[in-house]
Amino acid sequence: KIITRFAPSPTGYLHIGGARTALFNYYFAKHVGGEFHLRIEDTDKARSTEAATQAIIDGLAWLGLTYDGEIIFQSQRADAHIAAANALLDAGLAYRCPLEGDALDAEREKCREAGQAFRSSYRDQNHSTGAIRFRVPEGQTSLTDHVQGNITWENTELDDLVLLRADGTPTYMLAVVVDDHDMGVTHVIRGDDHLINAARQQQIYAALGWNIPQWAHVPLIHGPDGKKLSKRHGALGVEAYRDMGYLPSGLRNYLVKLGWAHGDDELFFDDQAISDVFELDGINASPARLDFDKMDFINGQHIVHTDDKVILGRLLDYLSPNEISEQKLKRLSAAMATLKPRSKTLKEMVEQADYLLVDRPLTLEGKTAKPLRRDGVIELLTALTLQLKALESGAWSAETIQRLLTDFAAENDIGFGRIGQPVRAALTGGRPSPDLSEVLALLGKDECLGRLTDCLD
Ligand code: GLU
Repeated sequence: KIITRFAPSPTGYLHIGGARTALFNYYFAKHVGGEFHLRIEDTDKARSTEAATQAIIDGLAWLGLTYDGEIIFQSQRADAHIAAANALLDAGLAYRCPLEGDALDAEREKCREAGQAFRSSYRDQNHSTGAIRFRVPEGQTSLTDHVQGNITWENTELDDLVLLRADGTPTYMLAVVVDDHDMGVTHVIRGDDHLINAARQQQIYAALGWNIPQWAHVPLIHGPDGKKLSKRHGALGVEAYRDMGYLPSGLRNYLVKLGWAHGDDELFFDDQAISDVFELDGINASPARLDFDKMDFINGQHIVHTDDKVILGRLLDYLSPNEISEQKLKRLSAAMATLKPRSKTLKEMVEQADYLLVDRPLTLEGKTAKPLRRDGVIELLTALTLQLKALESGAWSAETIQRLLTDFAAENDIGFGRIGQPVRAALTGGRPSPDLSEVLALLGKDECLGRLTDCLD
């Protein structure tokens, strides 16, 4: 059975790059009918907080990334890590090194000057105290990576790394190997900043006599300017993308397509489509650049393809409480068909819906009010309002209204714009809005007559 995992260190939020790595793990597992697990690497007590762990769990939940089984907390697995270090010690594949502080730095420096990786002078002495260091073997370490290809290191380039610190706490390098082994992880898919760690971890697997997982080291995400994504670019955490109005499904689609070559002309993928075709070998080895235009385009597609009720539910998160009265919700719900194709994000949809949600009386100023100030317009509006009033509520549809407006312009021997512009101004106050007859239909008879009358006083 194929098992993948996402193993974030809880450092404050679910990083957008981490989310992409998690998605690769998730869809690959889905594609092959395997399992996807979550392990929180919370061994760094100084930096890991419960809030940061919760932020990752919340981020994954919002993104719709469900994991199999229970969450594994690395901090609770110290016994297994210590047992593995001791097994290596007993087998002579690791050794105790009491070097600390300045003495350690001095020896390291000596190695560096000699152009060698660090080997402690205690390597062949039988000490009973100190950190447990891995005894790097002779020769070379080669690995095959689904993204990076074949890579070989001379073992002389790799330090005798610490497995268990002098205080008895396991290091990341040991914990990862033991946890991945115990969880039955078959494919390690993670950021390519861990590539050299894979060489080191592979040596530990071999020393423990364990099966080595398959590797896929994914390039990090770069900002739109081509530089490594950093605070300067803003929007690092997944929640920032939620706040910008992206749908979880849109972000999933965008992040998976980012640096994954499959039918490049095609951008829209739903979950099933991704799971059907996702392969590790399609991941590009060069860094992927964030492209907000593409993200917007894909998200717009997801808005169109997502059920109205689901969109409406998500939209509520972006509205203030006085924008969500029963009546306004009804209006919004009826407007979904016109709003969806006009909005790339939920934020944009809120702007597009503003004309439906604004309270009377609308304030019309400057340019917006101009069409209402033209000669004879108030008389025309008064006459039109009477005709609209006479229309039965049951007949209040875009079609009927369109006919009424066209007839009205013809009867009065005026161009459509002469009545259309002031009506739009009165009904929307200059806010973005669709076809005028749609505006009237969606606002409903009472609201339209109210807004028109407000302008006649
Ligand atoms: N906890 C590590 C990180 O967040 C990932 C370790 C791994 O995936 O092996 O960078």
